[in-house]
Amino acid sequence: MRPGAMKSLCLLGATGSIGQSTLKLVDQHPDRFLIRALSAHTQVDALIDLCRRYRPLQACIADPVLFTALRDGLRAEGLATTPLAGAEGLQDMAADPGSDTVIAAIVGAAGVASTFSAARAGKRILLANKESIVLAGQLLMKTVADYGAELFPVDSEHNAIFQCLSAHGGRAGVRRLILTASGGPFLGKTRTDLAAITPEQACRHPKWSMGRKISVDSATLMNKGLEVIEAHHLFGMPADAIEVVVHPQSIVHSMVDYCDGSVLAQLGEPDMRTALAYGLSYPDRINSGVKALDFGQLGHLEFQSPDTDTFPCLGLAYAAISRGGNAPAVLNAANEVAVTAFLEGRLPFLAIADIVAQSLDAVPWEPAVDLSVLMASDAEARRYANHRIH
Ligand code: NAD
Ligand code: MG
Repeated sequence: MRPGAMKSLCLLGATGSIGQSTLKLVDQHPDRFLIRALSAHTQVDALIDLCRRYRPLQACIADPVLFTALRDGLRAEGLATTPLAGAEGLQDMAADPGSDTVIAAIVGAAGVASTFSAARAGKRILLANKESIVLAGQLLMKTVADYGAELFPVDSEHNAIFQCLSAHGGRAGVRRLILTASGGPFLGKTRTDLAAITPEQACRHPKWSMGRKISVDSATLMNKGLEVIEAHHLFGMPADAIEVVVHPQSIVHSMVDYCDGSVLAQLGEPDMRTALAYGLSYPDRINSGVKALDFGQLGHLEFQSPDTDTFPCLGLAYAAISRGGNAPAVLNAANEVAVTAFLEGRLPFLAIADIVAQSLDAVPWEPAVDLSVLMASDAEARRYANHRIH
């Protein structure tokens, strides 16, 4: 290892799917990565267990009611980890000079404030929390630039595009970004087939193992819609130069099409450790534990256009980009409310898109002047969507 190559990490959302994949990489490379801070939402016992294993300087439980449980649990274990709680605790931890890299792996708009806090502290941010950039894309990109932070896409599609663009040396000559979509568990189904879908069916993704919210987003194709918005901001490309193609094998993670007809792609097994390892070690490469692709076994790769009639959420996301301002924040908030209601058995699967469309029409348009305007739109969209559901 080169001297000074050790990275100190703040892992927000440590108990989730991305959090666990990150910790596997840390376990594999204890000489490169040091965990300095960890957070969880409500799983206080799991967080204390992680503190026992990684001995961070700080740990934050996002639900403030659980602060005493965290503090007492750390004390009982004889750990010197400082306990923190709530949204403020997350923001303080993200900005703390004890870490140089922040892995933003909280799900939903709950991750926005801590992502911004990391940006204002000039950190390298490994962004899994796509809702942050969907809600406040322009402001986040500007904050990252103003404070000399670095935003590193961990979403596999954006990581693929980042790798293609890095290999080529930038955006010159790019004609289109092509985001691949697995199609989710309901590829090929009709609206009639989807009427009585249960949360368990929606969360059974054929290729990726992920948290429940993003699994439902993959099933509605909203995940790809959020990713189109994410790509628009990350790579500064207009929406009409971002195309989605369904690729059920999830081997080609995304592509860049150049004006001379060349298409560059990044391929790999569907395992988030590849994108995380790239972000953690950039510009080096480290072993991620992901197995090598076996092309003889793969046989063939398929591509097809998305069915936007059966899955209207993708079109809603494009509409939100063209409306601009607070529209992506409204789309995201209404979707979070609708997905929660679906997962709790209070809303049919097909109504998720209806709630999002109605919220986009109902919440007044506002320009995205600052984060407080966007958070107010987020709150208003949540109120409206909840009102439609009950
Ligand atoms: P998950 O549900 O498995 O984990 C979410 C984490 O966030 C948990 O640690 C949880 O404790 C924490 N959390 C939840 N609600 C919170 C709140 N209100 N306040 C603070 N913390 C909270 O989700 P995941 O699949 O790991 O996804 C995390 C993020 O990464 C999402 O934005 C998702 O879209 C994105 N992402 C995930 C994958 C994947 O393969 N899982 C791939 C690409 C992008
Ligand atoms: Mg993705």
